[in-house]
Amino acid sequence: MPLLVVATGNPGKLKEMQAYLTDPALGWQLVLKPEELDIEETGQTFMENACLKASQVAIALGEWAIADDSGLAIDALGGAPGLYSARYAPTDALRIERVLQELEGVTNRQAQFICAVAIARPDGAIALQTEGVCHGEILTAAQGEGGFGYDPIFYVPQQQMTFAEMPASVKHEISHRGLAFQALLPQLPTLGQG
Ligand code: IMP
Repeated sequence: MPLLVVATGNPGKLKEMQAYLTDPALGWQLVLKPEELDIEETGQTFMENACLKASQVAIALGEWAIADDSGLAIDALGGAPGLYSARYAPTDALRIERVLQELEGVTNRQAQFICAVAIARPDGAIALQTEGVCHGEILTAAQGEGGFGYDPIFYVPQQQMTFAEMPASVKHEISHRGLAFQALLPQLPTLGQG
């Protein structure tokens, strides 16, 4: 079975990515990126960053690599924190606090989580890329204990729950990452053969 290096250092993302990729029927053996291998995210879009991370990790290790670049885009903040979601403040709690402060008194709470996923061949060439978007609303206070990142303030009207209140299996299906992986997984079994 060919190796597939998961190019992320974020434990929350890693757990979710592993859940999509561990099925042996997919025909890949997952390995984690070495911690010291850090790729700078200099792209202008989520997809550019996902491709950059997958490509550079693949080249550095000489193996296939998969990367996810994702973030939260809030309409009333002109799409912020967007590409800077991970860097909006030093911790998850402070990032949530900053968003809630910036939205104080704002009635338009529409937002979307976006996830771009890219797979690179061992020579760094991009073999596959998919994207998923999940629409929701930003609450005025955190709700729920599950998930990671901005999950406690991201409310999905269809489920009547935040990402942090959902069973992991529901977030797995309906999230931005879920939608990106649903588009990607059917192509994985044949990808390593060509
Ligand atoms: P990056 O893709 O490594 O740049 O980081 C993406 C950042 O977006 C994470 O550190 C989180 O703050 C946020 N993020 C991405 N996906 C999710 C999610 O599923 N739930 C909550 N926050 C997320």
